[in-house]
Amino acid sequence: MDDNDLKDHREIGQAQELFFIDPEIGLGLPMWLPNGATIRRELERYMTDLELKEGYKHVITPHIAKLDLYKKSGHWEHYRDGMFAPMNRDNEEYVLRPMNCPHHIHLFNHRPRSYRELPLRIAEFGTLYRWENSGELSGLIRVRNMTLNDAHIFCSPSQLKDEFKSAVKLIEKVYKDLKLKNFWYRLSLHDPKDKEKYVNNPKMWEESERAIREALDELELDYKEGVGDAAFYGPKLDVQIPNALGKDETVSTVQIDFYLPEKFNLNYLGEDGKKHPIVIVHRGIISTLERMVGFMIEQYQGAFPTWLSPVQVKIIPITDRNLEYAKKLLEQFKDSKIRAEIDERGETMQAKIRDAQNMKIPYMVIIGDKEQESGMISVRKRDGESLNNLDFKKFLDELNSEIDKRA
Ligand SMILES: [Zn+2]
Repeated sequence: MDDNDLKDHREIGQAQELFFIDPEIGLGLPMWLPNGATIRRELERYMTDLELKEGYKHVITPHIAKLDLYKKSGHWEHYRDGMFAPMNRDNEEYVLRPMNCPHHIHLFNHRPRSYRELPLRIAEFGTLYRWENSGELSGLIRVRNMTLNDAHIFCSPSQLKDEFKSAVKLIEKVYKDLKLKNFWYRLSLHDPKDKEKYVNNPKMWEESERAIREALDELELDYKEGVGDAAFYGPKLDVQIPNALGKDETVSTVQIDFYLPEKFNLNYLGEDGKKHPIVIVHRGIISTLERMVGFMIEQYQGAFPTWLSPVQVKIIPITDRNLEYAKKLLEQFKDSKIRAEIDERGETMQAKIRDAQNMKIPYMVIIGDKEQESGMISVRKRDGESLNNLDFKKFLDELNSEIDKRA
């Protein structure tokens, strides 16, 4: 397939009933249909399992907070255009959060921390609200409501480089697992001339940009530089992927931050019993679930690996006589937590196979009189390959192992 034939994720999302945008709900507010919600849930499970293994601690925090919190953090000064307007009730002002950082900082700081707890890696699938201009909105890739695979690593300055490098290595592992391609790395630096966007502290910028360059050199990573692409509080490494229309968007990011720790007076008690300063690594590996699912739809062109496929098996009875038997198989698939469905429509077998192929369902199990009598099954893969006279138990075991391995 040539690149020009690539379908946009919105087109595939509609055909496969993954999500839709409803102007009466609001632009940039995706509605996840059951098929899309399944992909999203599986992706969240995959990442959570991986993070728990890597020593991250998962938390849950509110989607809103007092406006004063964002005044203190600097978001109100530097990021106000990206925020929904404050809500005023009983003389208190609240905002929908545009970032999770201040919540996680308060979580870190709710009691004194010892050097023994560091590095403390706090993770959350944190839901955010950002005011993107309506002209910028695009399917799942640019939205106003999103859930970020976020984490903040609270560490000592001496742990900083290793934590940054581990986060980059985690990105490399995930991209390999998810078979993402065409991505490139961008070192996003601040623009010293832009006093409005960036915190004015030349020494801090010099220190943090030096730390990030050293870590990148040790990783021997190829990257391009982007002046003016940094966060308002610090430099970052971004992973850029082009969408089906050729426009690059940031998917993953790892950031170094000396600014917020100082603002919120973050410290830890060292072995010497004295207080020492904290540094934060902000990182998002699979980006927002919205953006990642959007890119995955485009990169796979809707043909998700089995573990992510909303429907993994379509059971196709050839005649009504085979329906009872098909239902027995369905129960066995369900007992193995495999997402299977029966196509009970009065269409021909060929039409049912064609529709399942169009929906990119990985496996079709065809049940006729012959299969019913012998207790064997015939399987068709979505690429057209046929496997006849398969033992059902053996097929079930192989399918389970493919899904467990997230192969
Ligand atoms: Zn953050």
